[in-house]
Amino acid sequence: MIRFVDLGRQHAAIHAELSLAIENTVQSGTFILGPTVERFERAFAGYCGVAHCVGVGSGTAALQLALEACGVGPGDEVIIPANTFIATAFAVSERGARPVLVDVEETSKLLDPLAVEQALTRRTKAIVPVHLYGAMVDMDRVAAIARAHRLTIIEDACQAHGASLNGRRAGSFGAAAAFSFYPSKNLGALGDGGAVVTDDAEIASRVRLLRDLGQRSKYDHIVKGDNSRLDSLQAAVLEVKLAHLDAWNAARRKCASRYDELLMKAGLATAPRSVGEPVFHIYAIPVKDRRQVALALDEARIGYGIHYPVPIHLQPAYEDLGYRPGDFPVSEAWSAHTLSLPMFPELTSEEIETVVRTIALSERAVRV
Ligand SMILES: *Cc1c(COP(=O)(O)O)cnc(C)c1O
Repeated sequence: MIRFVDLGRQHAAIHAELSLAIENTVQSGTFILGPTVERFERAFAGYCGVAHCVGVGSGTAALQLALEACGVGPGDEVIIPANTFIATAFAVSERGARPVLVDVEETSKLLDPLAVEQALTRRTKAIVPVHLYGAMVDMDRVAAIARAHRLTIIEDACQAHGASLNGRRAGSFGAAAAFSFYPSKNLGALGDGGAVVTDDAEIASRVRLLRDLGQRSKYDHIVKGDNSRLDSLQAAVLEVKLAHLDAWNAARRKCASRYDELLMKAGLATAPRSVGEPVFHIYAIPVKDRRQVALALDEARIGYGIHYPVPIHLQPAYEDLGYRPGDFPVSEAWSAHTLSLPMFPELTSEEIETVVRTIALSERAVRV
């Protein structure tokens, strides 16, 4: 049996470190924010190459709070890709702003800068490039558009901890960026968690207020805020895991190269190509007959995922935006054929061979 993501192997390898960190937190008696959270915030800001990190309750909350701190609100339009996890869109609509969807590039399946230019209106306030699959959006081109039209960039880096472009890490390109520490992310907590990172001290201090009920000091509430804080226990776990992140990302890259090599040898398509250095949160390939391949994988007890089966504009929740099938052909074709293969740092070369052999047999049967 090969799982899609096997966190058990990761946790077994660092069990002693995790237990100690958890025990120390229990002993400390501080469970919400506090010194452990502050320590992790400093470490993660340093890792991303930015001045500030603010720990929050989830990646979705991080996106929402970043948008709010950057002044996005009712009447504003925010450009996002049609091929993303739906939380990107929800964060925009939760602010009372309108998500304006654009198609993705054929080669990378990531936000298409040309489509962004065509979607600009007088109401456009911000762009949210999503570094989906742990692959970097072409930020040089997105930044040029943002500069020319005075737009704010808020990166959705929820799948891209440690990815880089021209020596700069994901999260260091926008006015602010959102990270998720959902357990299966490249840097995952043992529960929900997230962070906003930024170089801007004012944005950081606004997010700090907003995440903690708008209080400047206890019971002195200067703005209407949320309750969206990072737990001390999660920060302690994340601090332990952060020290391993580069090694884990390197192992993911090795797995991805092995997939590339074997898939090419079998005459199958590899994962999309992108600029920069990806960290392979997900390794997704296009297959001809997804139902058939899924059956074959089920039979071989191999896990898989689909990221994502329905693009945002065709989700019932967004009927009100008025999009129709055919509006974003690249995203639609991709969602119909994409299949995500097992991917985690401890995946072995033999397991990768088994996965590719199973898919190759199934896809060959389709052609006959
Ligand atoms: C995981 C994820 C989110 C949301 O993060 P949560 O911590 O689950 O709220 C947002 N955007 C993308 C692209 C994600 O993968």
